[in-house]
Amino acid sequence: MQEESERIAMPIVLTIAGTDSGGGAGVMADLKTFAALGVHGCVVVSCLTAQNPARVLEVSPCSPEFVEAQLKAVFTELSPKVVKTGMLYDEKIIQKTASFLKKTSVCLVVDPVMISTSGAKLLREEAIEVMKRELFPLATLVTPNLDELASLLGHPILNELELRSGAKEFYELYKCPVLAKGGHLKGSHLALDILWDGIHEYSYSLPFVRDVSTHGTGCTFSAAITAFLACGFTLSEAVGRAKCYVNEAIRGSVRISRYYALDWFGFKK
Ligand code: PLP
Repeated sequence: MQEESERIAMPIVLTIAGTDSGGGAGVMADLKTFAALGVHGCVVVSCLTAQNPARVLEVSPCSPEFVEAQLKAVFTELSPKVVKTGMLYDEKIIQKTASFLKKTSVCLVVDPVMISTSGAKLLREEAIEVMKRELFPLATLVTPNLDELASLLGHPILNELELRSGAKEFYELYKCPVLAKGGHLKGSHLALDILWDGIHEYSYSLPFVRDVSTHGTGCTFSAAITAFLACGFTLSEAVGRAKCYVNEAIRGSVRISRYYALDWFGFKK
């Protein structure tokens, strides 16, 4: 038996997000990422989804009171260092989450999940303004993909130049650091992401992995950033490491039935 003092202390993180019954995205992807990267993951479920790799069939949101009960249960005993939010779905859940997190001193990664790869709405229209107003000001980092960035800025982002200026525009609008993910920019063989923290611009690019159509990559990316932040890396380091992690997880994708799943556990730290 190990002595108490010899046991490794594991950083604690929390994901506040939706489930995916297909096991590819949402809290399922987050927990696998946390486990692979050596942090202890707590979970606050915002909503349940009946989902598979092809489509989201139904969404059943938790009551805001139950979301708050889960938050209280976690924070009274576990004090996560870093928290990420994913699919929050409705305005009342966002309000409860934001007013709870405001009273803590956590580092917060906001993945502004709006629409799934399969085209399903994962954030109600009425919730978008609440997310901008209540959640973004608390964020250490917001991680929009191209479509989410375009929607949050109100204009399309068509090339690398616009991705870079879009990141700065986002910071000016919402006053929080942003990782603008350009993975789906047309005509590029590189997956380029831009981090703008209000002072410095960091570019991350790795070859775009073709021929596999995975889902849950956005969730996995923000979960990995969360894990690396909890391990003590700076924001720019955490993003760089998380990008390598996701890239390897996509490259190592495995076949599940007619679909693909990320290889969450192939990463050599
Ligand atoms: N389902 C849930 C519960 C999610 O949280 C997310 C993303 O955050 C998705 C689906 C969307 O994942 P993807 O766009 O990779 O299909």
